[in-house]
Order: sequence, then C-alpha cells, then structure tokens
Amino acid sequence: MSVINAKPAEVWFIVGSQHLYGPEALRQVDEHAKEVAAALDSSDAVPAKVKWLPVLTGPDEIRKTILAANADPNCVGLVAWMHTFSPAKMWIGGLTALDKPLLHLHTQYGAALPWSTIDMDFMNLHQSAHGGREFGHICARLNVPRKVVVGHWQNADVQAQVGAWTRAAMARADLRSAKIARIGDNMREVAVTEGDKVSAQIALGVSVNGYGLGDVVKFVNEASDAEIDKLCGVYDDAYELAAELRSGGAKHESLREAARIEIGLRAFLQDGGFVGFTDTFENLHGLRQLPGLPTQRLMADGYGFGAEGDWKAAALTRAAKVMADGLPGGTSFMEDYTYDMAGDPMQCLGAHMLEICPTIAAGRPSCEVHPLGIGGKEDPVRLVFDAPAGPAVNVTIVDLGHRFRMVLNEVEVAAPPEPLPKLPVARAVWQPLPDLATAAAGWIYAGGSHHPTFSQALSTEHFEDFAEMIDCELVVIDGDTRLRNLRRELRQDNAAF
Ligand code: MN
Repeated sequence: MSVINAKPAEVWFIVGSQHLYGPEALRQVDEHAKEVAAALDSSDAVPAKVKWLPVLTGPDEIRKTILAANADPNCVGLVAWMHTFSPAKMWIGGLTALDKPLLHLHTQYGAALPWSTIDMDFMNLHQSAHGGREFGHICARLNVPRKVVVGHWQNADVQAQVGAWTRAAMARADLRSAKIARIGDNMREVAVTEGDKVSAQIALGVSVNGYGLGDVVKFVNEASDAEIDKLCGVYDDAYELAAELRSGGAKHESLREAARIEIGLRAFLQDGGFVGFTDTFENLHGLRQLPGLPTQRLMADGYGFGAEGDWKAAALTRAAKVMADGLPGGTSFMEDYTYDMAGDPMQCLGAHMLEICPTIAAGRPSCEVHPLGIGGKEDPVRLVFDAPAGPAVNVTIVDLGHRFRMVLNEVEVAAPPEPLPKLPVARAVWQPLPDLATAAAGWIYAGGSHHPTFSQALSTEHFEDFAEMIDCELVVIDGDTRLRNLRRELRQDNAAF
C-alpha cells in the first residue's frame, strides 16, 4: 500500500497588478487569472490542486498572501503571473518573507495578437511582456530561488513544465517533515555514505536518527503465524515463486522468515512515522536474513531506502518516489555495479546485493532464495528481474563537508544482450549519456556516490526544479556533456557555493 502523498497538495496561483488600471481592468485580470488557474488545475500534467487567489495590487496584501502561503501546510508552492504591470517594489516585502517554492509563469491571456483590432485598451490589459520583466528583475535582485516558465498557458509543454515543478515542490514539502530511520549505522570505513545529518536537516528538512537492531527485532518477533501465512499468499499471487519456496518446499521456512521480517520492519516504520530507512549487512543482530524481499516491497510502497547506512540515498529515493507518484515507470535505489567495457557502446550493469525496487521490473518478478556470500546470515529471499529498455536518470546527493552536491546522469536502459541465468539479483543495464567514458569520468570528478537513485519515471527537469528549491548544486551529465566543460563547471561551482 502506497505511503505517499497522504496530505492534499495545493499550489497557490497569484496574479500581480496595480490600482492604476481601475476596477474594470482589475475585474478582467481576476477573471482571466481564474481561467488560467482552472486550466492548470484540470491539467493531467499538474498533480496538485491549483488554487486561484484574488488579484494582488499592493505591498500589504502581497506580503499577507505570501505569509499565509508560508503558514499553510497544504500549500507546496506559488505560481505567480504578471498579467499587467505590477511595480515590483511592492513585491519586496512579500518575496523577502517567501519560504515556499516559486514558479514565475510568464504567459499571456490570449495566445494570438488581434492584429486588426488591437487598440490601447488591449495594450493596457495584456502587459505580461513587460510586467513579467519587472517581476523577474526584483526576483533576480533578491536572489529568490524560482523556475521561470515561458509560453501560452494552454500549451501542453507549458503545463508539463508547471507539472514537473509541482512534483518537485511536493517532494520538497514531504522532505521538510520526513523522518529516516538509520538502522544499525554505517558500513564500516565507507566514506560516501557518511555525512552531516545536522546540515542535512537544516538544508533539506529531513531528520535522520539512529536505531538499534533490537528496536526492529521487537516488531519482527511480534509477527503472528496468521499474518505470515497471509503475506506468503500475497507473495505467491504477485511473484513467480521458486518451487523450493512454496508451501511444502525445502526452503519454505526462508520465505516465512522474509515475511516475518517484512511485517516487523513495516510495523517499526509505521510506529515511528518513518518514510525511509537504511540498514547494513554488517549489523543485523537478531535478524536471520538481510532484508531483501522486505526492503524491495517497502520501496515499492514508497519508502526511501539506502543500503549500508546510506541515509542520503534513502532521503533522495524517498523524494524521487514522491515526485514520481502516479507517473509511468519505476524508481529504485541502485548501485553502479559492473561494466561491459568490451561492448559497443560500453555499458553499466546496475544492481545491488538484493535491494532493487520491483517498480522497475519489466515483467513479473521471480522470487528466489540464494546465499549472499557476505554478512554471515541465512540465505535471503529476493525478487529477481530486469528493468525495461528506455530513458532513465541516475541521481545522487553527496556531502562535500561544507555543502551538498547533487549529481545526475541521463542514461539509456537497454535489454541485457544475453540472458543472465546465473545472476540471482534484480538488475538494469544502461548506456550512460553521452558515453560511459565521459559519464563515469564526470561522475567521479564530481565525487558522486556509487548509490544513485535510478528512475524511469522522472527526468532531469524534475531534479533541476528540486535542486533549485533546496538550494543545492546540481551537476548534470547528459548527451551534451564535454568533460573539459564539466571540470570547469565544477571549479566554478566550488567558487560560487
Ligand atoms: Mn551498496
């Protein structure tokens, strides 16, 4: 069952003007703004409710409206449109208090100019072309984080850009109160999975706290036989169960143990109000298996996850799950595992020991049990599948000591060139853009982790909007990337941040 977007999300649609135009012009501004807000509200591309607000014509009401938006828990962000000219000194008081994401929609009520009838009345009302520039100037001067979208409001591409930003705003709102449970701390001696949890809470809002395995084991031990029977039935319906795992099979007990762990882990997360978690194979006291199948299924329900204590991966995967909610294509915790350097093009095989989310499965997953070869526990149950071909992004967030950096690589997922009959883990095979050599070198120069969030539902745009909202550097490696330019960008960003 999905654990995403329990709260109704609203985007407030505000329109700027001034008193000089008189009540009739302002009435028309209001009418037009209502129409634009309603169009965005009913657009399939925009997943939140878009709420129209009366025209803003003075500094006091602008500030009051923005303070109200800050205080409203359902409001994830504001879309601002300057239908007419709105002298922007009036906006300083409001914008300096703004604590929600802002999208500046630079649009015009009518798409086409009525060339044969246009007169000064028309010119007085349809002034976005200069009104939007005045608003943009004060946003630039105040350094307000924002997205500027230009185009007619009925255009599908414009609505899609508003939609991507809305999704990012929903993730930003979710992360503000998100709690991640770090179960059993970190894989020892690993650098990139560490980081400053206090800085993360200040920058992103997400709180990360540590829990002992005993806190989880208590819930695992409380799972009843009836609950375990029922969940094993769910597994049988949803997956291709290996014969040995079926009721009466030689390893059915392993499946029951996985079910027991899932029930306990889920109860622990619900009890603590967590939206994500980490674990590590080096610290599993009281659990008989590394949670494989349970973690895969919890991720599919919207929980963020990071292995080996990687709480930043858990937080980013959760944010991506919120952004991707309802979109076709899956999102998973991932690891750059191994390369095919002999292939043309060179490819990367992504996988993890176990914990890949079945939302990225191309077909019905197979449920199997195999030895893990690390961690010294019983053989864990896991889902095995391939990801479907198509575009995807890999994204990571790392702690550089004094700030966070996000790194994104656009990739093209391909069907594995041959079956992988001996590989008992879920996996995805991709060709990074522009090519593996450039992408991997760029990622390594940028200090990106080996634990990206992988998504076939989201695009670079979602993460660009999200990074802007959380004031985080974003290094994009895509089809246009040239290594020399990327290295210059990293040096410039180091100076800028
Ligand atoms: Mn790992």
